[in-house]
Amino acid sequence: MRNVIIIGGGIVGLSTALYLKRSGCNVTVLDKNDFSNNCSYGNAGYVCPSHFIPLATPGIVKQGFKWMFNSKSPFYVQPRLNWPLIEWGLQFIKSANNKQVEAAAIPLRDIALLSQHEYESWTKLTDFKFSYEHKGLMEIFQTEEKAEHAHHALEKAHELGLDAMMLDKEALQKMEPQTTINALGAVLFKCDAHLYPNLLMKSLIDHLKKNGVVLLSNQEVKKIESDHEAVKKIFTADQSFEADEIVVAAGSWSREIASLLDTKLPLVPGRGYSVTLDDSPYKLNHPAVLMEGRVAITPMDGNKIRFGGTMEITSTKTPPRMNRVVGILNAVKRYFPEFNIPMPAQEKVWYGYRPCSADGLPYIGRIKKYKNVIIATGHSMLGLSLGAGTGKLVDEIVHDRKTSIDVKAFEVERFG
Ligand SMILES: Cc1cc2nc3c(=O)[nH]c(=O)nc-3n(C[C@H](O)[C@H](O)[C@H](O)COP(=O)(O)OP(=O)(O)OC[C@H]3O[C@@H](n4cnc5c(N)ncnc54)[C@H](O)[C@@H]3O)c2cc1C
Repeated sequence: MRNVIIIGGGIVGLSTALYLKRSGCNVTVLDKNDFSNNCSYGNAGYVCPSHFIPLATPGIVKQGFKWMFNSKSPFYVQPRLNWPLIEWGLQFIKSANNKQVEAAAIPLRDIALLSQHEYESWTKLTDFKFSYEHKGLMEIFQTEEKAEHAHHALEKAHELGLDAMMLDKEALQKMEPQTTINALGAVLFKCDAHLYPNLLMKSLIDHLKKNGVVLLSNQEVKKIESDHEAVKKIFTADQSFEADEIVVAAGSWSREIASLLDTKLPLVPGRGYSVTLDDSPYKLNHPAVLMEGRVAITPMDGNKIRFGGTMEITSTKTPPRMNRVVGILNAVKRYFPEFNIPMPAQEKVWYGYRPCSADGLPYIGRIKKYKNVIIATGHSMLGLSLGAGTGKLVDEIVHDRKTSIDVKAFEVERFG
């Protein structure tokens, strides 16, 4: 039986554990924390084939410079003299062109549809409960500029075979009769689903434990020993582990682990924030992205509603900036004037670090230097959506089977 060590217990690491266990491996997951919080918990919960446009676009680079000095803006790069950040930034700017954006659409659609199919299969497992709902997602716009963008996105979605339609102001309001919406219209991506990430993570952890996966908390991987062709041992502060295969799924910290493996992985943390009302007086029937405000709103798990956003390229050591949360709540009010959400105390605000690759596509596959190491990270804004699919792909790669979809676009060392 093959022994596999997975480094990182977020949605990507745990999904991978599920598929590897099913295919007969001995699986151990090491996490530097205790599996109870990471980026996979407080996110917006979208499982969204509609997000076939990656983070790196010509528009975001232009907009990013404009937003740079606004503390409430949704996109921000903290200027730092940090070589990995500079390298990532140069690669990001290089990737942010129409040709790359066009090339990313099919691989992103395919992995998202695969993943959605897998999540749907999980809903049939009796011990899995994660409030999965396939109701669609609205991208709401207030300006002519974003309306035009929405028309292009709709056209492209149809070209990709995704179910989506345009809603004018009246049709949008009819979808959400419980509150006034200040907008010109929306695209309704019927192809999208959503879930309650906190419950998903809990279900997954319980399921893995019950099925014999070993989950070890407070095990930060600090050192890796190898011979010239394979990794031999992994060291944490007080233990060492041997395995036939290693999967690096350490989210925003995967670059550091890749460098222990003499492998370059352009990856930076993109911090985002969310606020959840557990018993919300404000109701929405459908999840919504506020296009100008770059805010995600998700009604989830009954009466809960979550507001999330901002992409802050920063160090994981920089204290959170509560002004970003003010920016999120201000944007909500501009679209939903009846939503009066007071700024919560800092301890009620969740934040997490998206593992951002340099082109917005994940890194999934083997590395060149060692024959027994697979990387699975870099999902940026889409790690939850693509998590189950990534787990399935990694299992196929471990067993050298034909992958369910073409994974060429996700090659780990594509930047050289
Ligand atoms: C506000 C916000 C909203 C979002 N909304 C969505 C959404 O709607 N849909 C979507 O698809 N995505 C969304 N995302 C993105 C998504 O949450 C992430 O892409 C995803 O959670 C990343 O999962 P992961 O498993 O790669 O990393 P993580 O969940 O961060 O897990 C990585 C784990 O690795 C562990 N680790 C790190 N270093 C080590 C080490 N040296 N040794 C051992 N363990 C280590 C960490 O402790 C952590 O538990 C959102 C993100 C944010 C911030």
